[in-house]
Amino acid sequence: MAGTSGLSEIEAAKRLRLEGANELPAAKTRTVWRIALEVIREPMFLLLILGGTIYFVLGDVGEGVMLLGFVIVVMRITLYQERKTERALEALRDLSSPRALVIRDHLPRRIAGSEVVRDDILVLAEGDRVPADALLISDLHLSVDESLLTGESVPVNKLVGAESLEFSRPGGDGTPFLYSGTLIVQGEGLARVQATGARTELGKIGTALQTVNVEPTTLKLETDRLVRLIASGGLVLCVLVVLGYGLIRGHWLDGLLAGIALAMALLPEEIPVILTVFMALGAWRIAQHQVLTRRAQVIETLGSATVLCVDKTGTLTHNHMTVASIATNREHCDVTRSNPKTFPENFHTTLEFGLLASHPGSFDPMECALAEAGDRLLVNTEHLHGDWNLVREYPLSPALLALSHVWRASDGTRYVIATKGAPEAIADLCHLSASDQLEVARTVETMAEDGLRVLGVARAYFQPVVLDPSVLPEIQHDFEFELLGLIGFEDPVRETVPAAIAACRSAGVRVIMITGDHIGTARHIAQRAGLSLEAEAIIGPELEAMNDEELERRVRNTSIFARVVPEQKLRLVNALKKNHEVVAMTGDGVNDAPALRAAHIGVAMGARGTDVAREAASLVLLDDDFSSIVRAVRLGRRIFDNLRKAFVYVTAIHVPIAGISLLPVLAGWPLILQPAHIVFLELIIDPACSIVFEAEPEEDDVMRRPPRGLEQPIFDRRTIGMGLAQGLGVLLVTLGVFAWTLTRDRDEPEIRAMVFVTLIAANLGLILSNRSWSRSTLSSLRVRNPALWWVMGAAVTFLTLVLSVPLLRDLFGFATLHLEDLGLCLGAGIVCLGWFELLKFWLRSRGPGDQGSVTLQALPDRG
Ligand code: ADP
Ligand code: MG
Repeated sequence: MAGTSGLSEIEAAKRLRLEGANELPAAKTRTVWRIALEVIREPMFLLLILGGTIYFVLGDVGEGVMLLGFVIVVMRITLYQERKTERALEALRDLSSPRALVIRDHLPRRIAGSEVVRDDILVLAEGDRVPADALLISDLHLSVDESLLTGESVPVNKLVGAESLEFSRPGGDGTPFLYSGTLIVQGEGLARVQATGARTELGKIGTALQTVNVEPTTLKLETDRLVRLIASGGLVLCVLVVLGYGLIRGHWLDGLLAGIALAMALLPEEIPVILTVFMALGAWRIAQHQVLTRRAQVIETLGSATVLCVDKTGTLTHNHMTVASIATNREHCDVTRSNPKTFPENFHTTLEFGLLASHPGSFDPMECALAEAGDRLLVNTEHLHGDWNLVREYPLSPALLALSHVWRASDGTRYVIATKGAPEAIADLCHLSASDQLEVARTVETMAEDGLRVLGVARAYFQPVVLDPSVLPEIQHDFEFELLGLIGFEDPVRETVPAAIAACRSAGVRVIMITGDHIGTARHIAQRAGLSLEAEAIIGPELEAMNDEELERRVRNTSIFARVVPEQKLRLVNALKKNHEVVAMTGDGVNDAPALRAAHIGVAMGARGTDVAREAASLVLLDDDFSSIVRAVRLGRRIFDNLRKAFVYVTAIHVPIAGISLLPVLAGWPLILQPAHIVFLELIIDPACSIVFEAEPEEDDVMRRPPRGLEQPIFDRRTIGMGLAQGLGVLLVTLGVFAWTLTRDRDEPEIRAMVFVTLIAANLGLILSNRSWSRSTLSSLRVRNPALWWVMGAAVTFLTLVLSVPLLRDLFGFATLHLEDLGLCLGAGIVCLGWFELLKFWLRSRGPGDQGSVTLQALPDRG
C-alpha cells in the first residue's frame, strides 16, 4: 500500500526531539519545595522546633541548636524516602503508559505511546486506545467509542476519506478522523498521525487519562485507625506527664520538655511511612519481575490469592505455533519432518486452503504458522495464490468458531471460499453425516492426544450470474462447503510453567486453565503443564446450561474449562468468589474486561492484550508468562511478611521508650530521655522499619504455607502480642540496668548514658531478631541485606561519637562510661536478644509440628 512504509527511526527521533513527547502535561509533579513544605507540617517537626525553642528560653543554646540541627537531618531522611518512593512510582507510570503499534522503516514496532510522532503510521485494532489524533488511511469495519470526548456512548463508524479534509471536531458517523484517547471497539485500520500531545483534541480539553490509580487500600484504612488510636492515647499520656512533672517538681518548662520527648516517642509517624515505602517499593519490586501494578490494593491481595484462572494459549504456552501434522481421509502427514519433495500431494489442498483462510501478513500465531508451512512446502507449486483478490471476510464468532475468506482468482469466473475453524464448526458447515462427524471427532481426538490444537479446513465455490461482492450471502452457512482436512498446531508449554504450577500447589493456590480450545487439547496441555489430573473438566456449552448453584459446586473440583467464550469468565469469577476464593483472572480481549474487573486480581496481558483489558486489570503482565504471576504472588506474600515484621518491631521498640520516658516522672527518678535522645532513637527506627525490613528477603516457607485469609487483619492479636512481649522484655531489662545504677548511687549523667546505651543495644537486637521469625538471628545473619548494615553501622558510629566526643557527650547529658559499665549495657542488650530468640522458638514449636519452619503467619489467630 502506498505511503504506509512509515517514518524512519531517525526521522521519528528527530521529530520527538523537536515537537516533544506525545503526553499531556502531567497533573502535578511535586517539587522538592512542596515536599519540604509538607514535611514541615508534620507533627514531628513542630515538636522538634517547639523543643528547640524551649531550650533557647531556658538558656541551653547548645541543646537548642542541636535539636534544630536534627530538624535538617530528619528532613533529609524524609526527603530521601519520599524521593525514593516518588521515583519508583514514576518508573511505574512510564511502564504503564499506553503502548502503540506503529510502522517504522517498513516494520511494525510496538513503542510507548509517548514516543508517537506526527506522520507515524498507527496500526489499530479492536480494543486499542488511539494514541494520538490521526487520519484513517485504510480500514476494515472500524468503529470507535468517542464517549471520552463527546459523551456519546454509541460507537461511531469511521471511513477512509480524502486526505485534504480539514480535521474536524469529534462526533458524527463516517468521518476519517481518529482522536487521541478514544477506543477502537471493532475492526482494524491504519492511520497517519496528525497531532500529538497537548495539540490533540484531548490535550485541548486537558483531561488526562489516569494510568496509575491511587485509592485508599484496606491496609491504609486499618493503619489510619491504629494511628489515630495511638496518637490520641499518646496525647493523654503527654498531658499527664507535663501536669505530673509540673505539679510534683514545680518545673513547668522542664515538664514541657519531658512531655515533648514523650510525644515524640509515641508519635506513630512511622506507620504511614512504612506503608507508603512498602507499597511503592513493592510495586517497583514486582515490576522488576515483569508485572506492573495498576492498583495499590492488589499488592495486599496478591499474597492471599487462592485460585489463579489463566488462559492456556499464550500464558501457559508460548503462543508460538507451528504446523505439526495434517490429516485427510484417514491419512496423517507429519509436517515437521516433511520437505517440499516428500510432502505428499494429497495434503497440499488442505494447507492451500488453510492459507487462503488466513490474512496475508497476519499476526495471528496460527496464521503465521500456516504461512511458514506454506512458504516451506508449497513453493513452486500451483497452490500459492499471490495474485488472487480477497473479496470478503466472514469473521470468527463465539457462536461459530470458523472464519471464511472469499477470493476471486485473477482470471476466475467464480468465487472461491476458504474456511478454517474449530473442527465441530467446520463439520457443521459441511453438513457431515453422523458417521462422518464421528470419524472427524476420532481423528481430532488422536491429534489432541499429542497436545495439538486442531483446525478443520473446508472449501466452497460460489458462482453468481455476475461477479459482484454484494450478491454474497450474509452468513457462512449459505455456502456448500466440502471438508478438506484437519491441521494440527503445536504450541509448546512454556518451560517455566511446570515448576510454577508445582509452586502454586505447595502454596495452597489452585490453578484453573481456561481456553477456547478443544477439551482434548486442553487436557493434554494440562498434563504437560503439571496440572492436577484428578480434577474435572467442563466445556463451555455445559457451563452455559448450568445454573449458578451448580457451577459453584462443580467449580470446586474443576481445573480445566475448555471451549469457553470470554463472556463466561465473568460467571466463573463470580462462582469462585461465592465459594470465598480469592481469584486472579487473566485476560487480553475486550470481552475479558468485565471478568478482569470482577476478579480480586485482574491480570492483563501486556504484550498482546488490548488497552481495554489493561485498563480493567489491576496487574499487567509485561511478558505474558504464567510464572511471572506466581512470582508476583510470592512477592506479595513476602511484602506482607515484611510489613508485619516492621510493625512488630515498631510496636516493640516503643514500649521501652514510652516506659523509660514515663516511669521516672511518676517514680521521681532522674529523667533519662530528652528530645535529643528520642530523635537519636528515631533516626535508627525510621530507616530500620521502612528500608531495612522492606528489603528483607522472603522466608524459606513463603510458598509452602496456605494463603493468608483476605479478611485477616495485619494487626491481629498475635502480631500485636509479639510486639508487646518483645517490648516488655526490653523495658524490664532496661529498668533493671536503671535500678542497678540507682542502687550504686551513680550520677545522673552516668545513669543516663548507661540506660541509653542499653536501649540502643536492645534496639539493634530487636532489628536483628525481627528480620525473620522462622530463622534464628544467627542463621539470618547470613542472609544479605545491605540496608541493615548501613543502619547498624551508622547507629554504632554515632553512639561511639556521642560517648567519646566531649561536646556531644555534654549535649546528650552523658558522662564517660567505664568499660565494665559499657559491657553491662551490651550484655543487657544480648539478654534482650536471647529473650526474643526464646520467644520465636517457643512460638515455632507451638505451631503444627510436622512442618519444620512454620512462621507466625501460618498459625491460626487465637483471637
Ligand atoms: P484460546 O482461549 O486457547 O486462546 P481462542 O478463544 O483464541 O482459544 O480460540 C478458540 C477456538 O477458535 C480455537 O480453538 C479455534 O478452533 C478457533 N480459532 C481461533 N482463532 C482462529 C483463527 N484465526 N482461524 C480459525 N479458527 C480460529
Ligand atoms: Mg486466542
